[in-house]
Amino acid sequence: MKERECDNCNNPTPKRFLGKINGLYLCKKCRIELRKNHRKQTIKESGIKEELQKLSSKIKKEREYSRKSYEKRIGHKVINKNYQPIIKGAKIGKPIHLYNLFLSFQEKKCLFRILRQRGMSERDVKERIKDLIEEQQRLGKIMKKENKTKLQIKQKQQELLEELWK
Ligand SMILES: [Zn+2]
Repeated sequence: MKERECDNCNNPTPKRFLGKINGLYLCKKCRIELRKNHRKQTIKESGIKEELQKLSSKIKKEREYSRKSYEKRIGHKVINKNYQPIIKGAKIGKPIHLYNLFLSFQEKKCLFRILRQRGMSERDVKERIKDLIEEQQRLGKIMKKENKTKLQIKQKQQELLEELWK
Protein backbone atom coordinates (compact mmCIF):
# COMPACT_ATOMS: atom_id res chain seq x y z
CA MET A 1 0.00 0.00 0.00
CA LYS A 2 1.27 3.45 -0.88
CA GLU A 3 2.29 5.61 2.02
CA ARG A 4 2.58 9.33 2.41
CA GLU A 5 3.75 11.45 5.32
CA CYS A 6 1.15 13.21 7.41
CA ASP A 7 1.54 16.95 6.82
CA ASN A 8 1.43 17.62 10.53
CA CYS A 9 3.33 14.89 12.43
CA ASN A 10 5.28 13.54 9.40
CA ASN A 11 4.47 9.94 10.25
CA PRO A 12 4.32 7.75 7.14
CA THR A 13 0.67 6.71 6.80
CA PRO A 14 -1.09 4.50 4.24
CA LYS A 15 -2.68 6.90 1.78
CA ARG A 16 -6.19 5.66 2.34
CA PHE A 17 -5.98 6.58 6.03
CA LEU A 18 -5.05 10.17 5.29
CA GLY A 19 -7.74 12.79 5.26
CA LYS A 20 -7.63 16.25 3.76
CA ILE A 21 -8.45 19.20 5.99
CA ASN A 22 -7.79 22.76 4.86
CA GLY A 23 -5.52 21.51 2.09
CA LEU A 24 -3.38 19.39 4.42
CA TYR A 25 -3.19 15.62 4.35
CA LEU A 26 -3.46 14.47 7.91
CA CYS A 27 -3.34 11.13 9.69
CA LYS A 28 -6.27 10.07 11.83
CA LYS A 29 -4.61 11.10 15.08
CA CYS A 30 -3.88 14.60 13.82
CA ARG A 31 -7.36 14.98 12.36
CA ILE A 32 -8.95 14.08 15.69
CA GLU A 33 -6.67 16.54 17.46
CA LEU A 34 -7.42 19.30 14.97
CA ARG A 35 -11.15 18.82 15.25
CA LYS A 36 -10.97 18.72 19.02
CA ASN A 37 -9.13 22.03 19.08
CA HIS A 38 -11.47 23.55 16.54
CA ARG A 39 -14.46 22.49 18.63
CA LYS A 40 -12.95 24.00 21.76
CA GLN A 41 -12.18 27.17 19.85
CA THR A 42 -15.72 27.39 18.50
CA ILE A 43 -17.18 27.02 21.97
CA LYS A 44 -14.74 29.53 23.41
CA GLU A 45 -15.35 32.10 20.70
CA SER A 46 -19.09 31.84 20.92
CA GLY A 47 -18.89 32.24 24.70
CA ILE A 48 -21.54 29.68 25.43
CA LYS A 49 -19.54 27.22 27.51
CA GLU A 50 -21.28 28.27 30.68
CA GLU A 51 -24.71 27.97 29.08
CA LEU A 52 -23.92 24.55 27.72
CA GLN A 53 -22.85 23.34 31.13
CA LYS A 54 -25.98 24.74 32.71
CA LEU A 55 -28.10 23.18 30.02
CA SER A 56 -26.35 19.86 30.40
CA SER A 57 -26.94 19.67 34.13
CA LYS A 58 -30.52 20.81 33.70
CA ILE A 59 -31.24 18.07 31.17
CA LYS A 60 -29.47 15.49 33.31
CA LYS A 61 -31.47 16.52 36.34
CA GLU A 62 -34.76 16.40 34.47
CA ARG A 63 -33.95 13.02 32.98
CA GLU A 64 -32.99 11.68 36.38
CA TYR A 65 -36.17 13.02 37.93
CA SER A 66 -38.25 11.66 35.10
CA ARG A 67 -36.56 8.25 35.26
CA LYS A 68 -37.10 7.98 39.00
CA SER A 69 -40.79 8.80 38.80
CA TYR A 70 -41.17 6.35 35.93
CA GLU A 71 -39.49 3.63 37.99
CA LYS A 72 -41.78 4.42 40.87
CA ARG A 73 -44.78 4.05 38.61
CA ILE A 74 -43.73 0.73 37.10
CA GLY A 75 -42.42 -0.53 40.44
CA HIS A 76 -38.93 -1.57 39.37
CA LYS A 77 -35.70 -0.12 38.10
CA VAL A 78 -35.29 0.68 34.43
CA ILE A 79 -32.92 -1.89 33.02
CA ASN A 80 -32.73 -0.56 29.49
CA LYS A 81 -29.59 1.55 29.46
CA ASN A 82 -30.82 3.49 26.44
CA TYR A 83 -34.04 4.50 28.13
CA GLN A 84 -34.49 8.21 27.59
CA PRO A 85 -37.24 9.72 29.68
CA ILE A 86 -39.31 12.46 28.20
CA ILE A 87 -38.20 15.84 29.41
CA LYS A 88 -40.91 17.85 31.09
CA GLY A 89 -42.40 20.52 28.91
CA ALA A 90 -41.54 18.74 25.70
CA LYS A 91 -44.41 18.80 23.25
CA ILE A 92 -43.32 15.64 21.55
CA GLY A 93 -41.26 13.18 23.53
CA LYS A 94 -39.03 12.07 20.75
CA PRO A 95 -36.15 14.34 19.80
CA ILE A 96 -35.60 14.76 16.10
CA HIS A 97 -32.82 12.38 15.14
CA LEU A 98 -31.48 13.51 11.83
CA TYR A 99 -28.00 12.11 11.63
CA ASN A 100 -26.47 15.52 11.05
CA LEU A 101 -28.46 17.37 13.66
CA PHE A 102 -26.33 18.24 16.59
CA LEU A 103 -28.85 19.39 19.15
CA SER A 104 -32.28 17.88 19.58
CA PHE A 105 -35.22 20.20 19.18
CA GLN A 106 -35.75 20.24 22.92
CA GLU A 107 -32.11 20.94 23.68
CA LYS A 108 -32.12 23.73 21.16
CA LYS A 109 -35.20 25.19 22.78
CA CYS A 110 -33.57 25.02 26.23
CA LEU A 111 -30.39 26.61 24.97
CA PHE A 112 -32.36 29.30 23.23
CA ARG A 113 -34.27 30.12 26.41
CA ILE A 114 -31.14 30.25 28.57
CA LEU A 115 -29.36 32.58 26.19
CA ARG A 116 -32.40 34.81 25.88
CA GLN A 117 -32.76 35.02 29.65
CA ARG A 118 -29.20 36.23 29.71
CA GLY A 119 -30.34 39.23 27.74
CA MET A 120 -28.96 38.23 24.38
CA SER A 121 -30.89 39.35 21.34
CA GLU A 122 -32.92 36.79 19.47
CA ARG A 123 -30.74 37.26 16.41
CA ASP A 124 -27.52 36.65 18.34
CA VAL A 125 -28.93 33.55 19.98
CA LYS A 126 -30.00 32.12 16.65
CA GLU A 127 -26.59 32.89 15.23
CA ARG A 128 -24.79 31.11 18.05
CA ILE A 129 -26.90 28.01 17.88
CA LYS A 130 -26.48 27.97 14.13
CA ASP A 131 -22.69 28.07 14.46
CA LEU A 132 -22.77 25.20 16.86
CA ILE A 133 -24.93 23.07 14.61
CA GLU A 134 -22.82 23.90 11.59
CA GLU A 135 -19.78 22.58 13.39
CA GLN A 136 -21.59 19.32 14.04
CA GLN A 137 -22.77 19.09 10.47
CA ARG A 138 -19.20 19.59 9.32
CA LEU A 139 -18.11 16.65 11.45
CA GLY A 140 -21.03 14.58 10.23
CA LYS A 141 -20.07 15.24 6.64
CA ILE A 142 -16.46 14.25 7.24
CA MET A 143 -17.57 11.00 8.84
CA LYS A 144 -19.95 10.31 5.99
CA LYS A 145 -17.09 10.73 3.53
CA GLU A 146 -15.14 8.24 5.62
CA ASN A 147 -18.02 5.84 4.99
CA LYS A 148 -19.07 5.70 8.60
CA THR A 149 -22.57 4.37 9.21
CA LYS A 150 -25.37 6.61 10.43
CA LEU A 151 -25.20 4.83 13.76
CA GLN A 152 -21.48 5.49 14.05
CA ILE A 153 -22.05 9.14 13.22
CA LYS A 154 -24.85 9.41 15.75
CA GLN A 155 -22.74 7.74 18.41
CA LYS A 156 -19.84 10.02 17.66
CA GLN A 157 -22.08 13.07 17.84
CA GLN A 158 -23.43 11.87 21.14
CA GLU A 159 -19.86 11.53 22.36
CA LEU A 160 -19.09 15.01 21.11
CA LEU A 161 -22.15 16.36 22.80
CA GLU A 162 -21.13 14.82 26.10
CA GLU A 163 -17.56 15.95 25.65
CA LEU A 164 -18.82 19.42 24.91
CA TRP A 165 -20.81 19.61 28.08
CA LYS A 166 -18.18 18.30 30.47
ZN1 LIG B 1 -0.32 13.11 11.81
